[in-house]
Amino acid sequence: AKSAGGNRYETADPEADARAITRHGLTTALPAALERGEFFIEYQPLVDMCDGKVHGAEALVRWCHPQHGVLGPDQFIPLAEHTGLIIPLGRWVLQEAVRQARYWQEHHADLGPVRINVNLSPTQLQHPGLVKETVAVLEGSGLAPGSLCLEVTESALIGADEGLLRPLRQLAELGVDIALDDFGTGYSNLANLRRLPVSILKLDRSFTKGMQHLPVDPVDLKIVEGIVSLAHSLELAVTVEGVETGAQADQLRELGCDTAQGWYYARPGPPEKLHALSLADAV
Ligand code: C2E
Ligand code: CA
Ligand code: CA
Ligand code: CA
Repeated sequence: AKSAGGNRYETADPEADARAITRHGLTTALPAALERGEFFIEYQPLVDMCDGKVHGAEALVRWCHPQHGVLGPDQFIPLAEHTGLIIPLGRWVLQEAVRQARYWQEHHADLGPVRINVNLSPTQLQHPGLVKETVAVLEGSGLAPGSLCLEVTESALIGADEGLLRPLRQLAELGVDIALDDFGTGYSNLANLRRLPVSILKLDRSFTKGMQHLPVDPVDLKIVEGIVSLAHSLELAVTVEGVETGAQADQLRELGCDTAQGWYYARPGPPEKLHALSLADAV
């Protein structure tokens, strides 16, 4: 559960919601929801910490449920994973997000060469059609592979064998960026990073939480500083998530983080919100 004052779909009593919305009810409603077009995507800008410009966005899926209103991914992605619906749902998200990125590139040149980040769940990673389908989506839309970043959580890759890494390696060779999402939450062996086909490290929000207000705990600073320098020495770019305050942003920029994402810049929103940002510049 997220803290109060979070996303728009939050209600006063999330526990009561969770009870009311039975797991079973949601699970059985999932397939029809996809057919009825009840899912939609919000986009959250990714901001270059050097020049403050928006250079991409992460696609975050939501479900507009006819009875329960807008549900966040935490409420249905685990169910979709469990039932296998994540495969068609994930395919839809990829298709839709890639189409949107291509649209931005063609019709909003002022945004620059917008990149799009799409989340991949562990089940999708194991799906044999992943590489073929991703290539087909890119070719169908005309989006360059280099404009797509697939985010895989650190926990999904802990202990991953070559079989699991192969599709990611193939996609990386085609030019697709692979980001290690929620980095720092999975206790993975840092030395292991070298054998993963990733080019971006997404530092989890838990690391940057302590930087919301000054003064910042010097130990927190040292940890982030260490991760950033390790990442850079492995030629990985560092994205920080959950940047909520200007103080945090300043600190993280100073520590050498490359890209930032968080409420300080913009909350996830409809694609049109990005158009407005392009004119204003995020910071
Ligand atoms: P994530 O990939 O770590 O995405 C970042 C989450 O942090 C998003 O929550 C976002 O709304 C939230 N967030 C962004 N900035 C801030 C901030 O400044 N402060 C705080 N407190 N939160 C912030 P959201 O949209 O609820 O998504 C939750 C998770 O659901 C995502 O975590 C991701 O793992 C998963 N998810 C979302 N869309 C998809 C999808 O299409 N496919 C799959 N497989 N998973 C998805
Ligand atoms: Ca993500
Ligand atoms: Ca994340
Ligand atoms: Ca996270």
